[in-house]
Amino acid sequence: MRGARTRVLVTGGAGFLGSHLCERLLARGYSVLCVDNFFTGSKDNIAHMLADPQFEVMRHDITFPLYVEVDQIYNLACPASPVHYQHDPVQTTKTSVIGAINMLGLAKRVKGRILQASTSEVYGDPQVTPQPEDYVGAVNVLGPRACYDEGKRCAETLFFNYHRQNGVSIKVARIFNTYGPRMHPNDGRVVSNFINQALRGEPITIFGDGRQTRSFCYVDDLIDGLMRLMDSDASVIGPLNIGNPEEVTIRALAETVVAMTGSRSDLVFQPALEDDPMQRCPDIRQVRAALDWEPTVPLREGLARTIAYFSGDA
Ligand code: NAD
Ligand code: UDP
Ligand code: UDP
Repeated sequence: MRGARTRVLVTGGAGFLGSHLCERLLARGYSVLCVDNFFTGSKDNIAHMLADPQFEVMRHDITFPLYVEVDQIYNLACPASPVHYQHDPVQTTKTSVIGAINMLGLAKRVKGRILQASTSEVYGDPQVTPQPEDYVGAVNVLGPRACYDEGKRCAETLFFNYHRQNGVSIKVARIFNTYGPRMHPNDGRVVSNFINQALRGEPITIFGDGRQTRSFCYVDDLIDGLMRLMDSDASVIGPLNIGNPEEVTIRALAETVVAMTGSRSDLVFQPALEDDPMQRCPDIRQVRAALDWEPTVPLREGLARTIAYFSGDA
């Protein structure tokens, strides 16, 4: 029997962002169904929630249909790190595209609201900075990142078409680089790589000359933004950039991590990755106005918390 409690489906709930989201939804008194195929997610990320009677886990691949009864869906399932999403590029696109169709079909049937975890990668290697939502992007259709970028772009198209054609209540968040505790230590993402290399005293691997930029958002801020978007008035559908506009070069990030960990690691420069975006910084004027949201955790503070996590002190 269904009670008054809001039931929320989180796909990719055993991943980095998904596990933080599940935690925050439970804290609000919601009932949470975490669906994950454990490709990049892990049971360790969700073990502490298993005793909660409002938390349920289901091993399932969203490229297959899913029939459950829920009020809201956060669609986060998809590997996010380049190393992981390029491991099986066909499956990555299937997860984004067929997964979106299935979750949108589910939202349509249950008349629920659905939020898509889209990405700054829809802008590709952007020629304008910071990137506003109306920038159409510069993605190389044939490059190694396209399986992810084009999959996410097509998912956005599907969201808007289900909204226009079937009246599905949608929310689309374009998430920029996010970091924090529970990042996969070996998934190749830059923050976890640099911190772990620094803590082990190993060389810090900079791809290219290190002048490329990223803007890093602490996980708690990001989750707050996603939940505000889900809660917002039906007229707010996005796409909205959610990220921290504090832009840094990758070289500066490496130097900061080395200084903060007190490491003796050297910086080593390796060949640049193919199609690696040279700059990335969110224009957050729209999300500020629509959701009264902006990041609150400065990079150094978020790095300190993440370093504590990887050192085993948190
Ligand atoms: P993650 O790899 O830690 O989590 C993804 C989760 O999805 C994992 O638990 C994985 O096992 C699961 N998954 C993958 N394919 C699946 C499938 N077919 N069926 C069911 N589950 C599946 O990544 P994350 O950083 O937590 O990212 C979560 C979402 O946010 C992704 O959609 C990603 O594209 C998006 N995003 C993340 C960032 C970031 O910086 N972390 C930036 C932009 C967008
Ligand atoms: N779907 C699902 N769960 C549901 C409802 C639909 O997984 O509760 C899937 C279904 O398998 C279908 C897809 O979502 O392939 C799209 O559904 P839609 O109703 O839009 O399309 P149709 O069923 O008409 O092809
Ligand atoms: N990067 C790096 N060394 C690493 C891992 C990544 O120099 O060990 C660089 C990478 O080339 C890119 C940036 O850091 O320019 C961010 O990479 P990440 O994989 O974290 O995210 P994305 O490229 O998807 O933004």
